[in-house]
Amino acid sequence: MQQRLRPDTLAIHAGQEPDPTHRAVMQPIVLASTFAQDEPGKPTAFEYSRSGNPTRQALEACLAALEGGTHGFAFGSGSAAALTLLHTLKPGDHVVSGDDVYGGTFRLLDKVLKPMGVTTSFVDLRDLSQLDQALRPETRWVWMETPTNPMLKLFDIQAIAERCRARGVPLAVDNTFASPVLQQPLALGAAVVMHSTTKYINGHSDVVGGALVTSDTALAERIGFLQNAIGAVPSPMDCYLVLRGIKTLPVRVRHQSASAAELARRLEGRRGVRRVNYPGLASHPDHALAQRQMSLPGAMLSVDLDADLDAARRFLSALRIFTLAESLGGVESLAEHPALMTHASIPKETRDALGIGDGLVRLSVGLEDVEDLAADLEGAFRAAGLG
Ligand SMILES: *Cc1c(COP(=O)(O)O)cnc(C)c1O
Repeated sequence: MQQRLRPDTLAIHAGQEPDPTHRAVMQPIVLASTFAQDEPGKPTAFEYSRSGNPTRQALEACLAALEGGTHGFAFGSGSAAALTLLHTLKPGDHVVSGDDVYGGTFRLLDKVLKPMGVTTSFVDLRDLSQLDQALRPETRWVWMETPTNPMLKLFDIQAIAERCRARGVPLAVDNTFASPVLQQPLALGAAVVMHSTTKYINGHSDVVGGALVTSDTALAERIGFLQNAIGAVPSPMDCYLVLRGIKTLPVRVRHQSASAAELARRLEGRRGVRRVNYPGLASHPDHALAQRQMSLPGAMLSVDLDADLDAARRFLSALRIFTLAESLGGVESLAEHPALMTHASIPKETRDALGIGDGLVRLSVGLEDVEDLAADLEGAFRAAGLG
């Protein structure tokens, strides 16, 4: 019987046997677009690199293993992964989505799917009665993200998956913020997990990529068909880089989470701070759920500064170690202003209702020394006139 390996081991070995030709320990980057056939119409393991590629296959096996799934699929971006999954839909179908999803996912559902005849209801998935009311006979997917961006709200994957199963609707979970190290949606009942591997999974801010993982054989067959038919696949180079990044994923995420917890603790109650949104704080409304659903609270937090737009701008411009940039999950710490940057495409009324105001700053805590990060934030508070 095969030993059940733990995430730190899977991150380094899953899908990556030494190369049979040269016994190379690291996965070769197979750039070939096509593969020789011994007889007409009789391809061996690979045929054409959009359909399948050895480097991509290694990455897909590793991603599947980390999420505890049987089938992994890699894409050229997280958005490509999401759109490929949404291509399982046809006009007239309906989606229920959390109301606090990634801006690009909202845009896909609202600006790409809607004109194609697929409608979406956005609901607060913390309230299961809202989910029940939103589900219709034509609902084909429930889409959720937890923790959410940028408010770090949590949704109960297991409870939502149970409701979905009772109504025969599969649940898709965008697990980008938590990473498979902190949270395992398939084990909690999700049908499919989606990732922007651009973030924690690659972790070095040098690749844009995406993934889907499932253990449902029929769904895997459909996703595999769509992956090949649509063709939004990553290059072998990018697959190699993501595989290389994954090797340190568990170590990075644990360290980054510990630093984020320390910064959140120091920021909470500080002068100039209205509120710190971090699931690891006892003050967080979903703290108990975080302890149950996640192995650690993660390395993302948002801080509502007691600041108008100008002071928030001064705060962000004064940071020296935190880089002012969109994205998250890399080894370097990043800061951004959701209302002006990542969530600018969301209507202002929706942003206000979600609490994304002028003073809100989102932090992605990296691997730098936490004392240097704390000092950087202190300097920005002073520069912004926030005490
Ligand atoms: C970045 C991100 C995406 C989109 O992924 P891309 O790789 O940028 O296309 C989707 N969901 C979440 C939570 C993200 O952070």
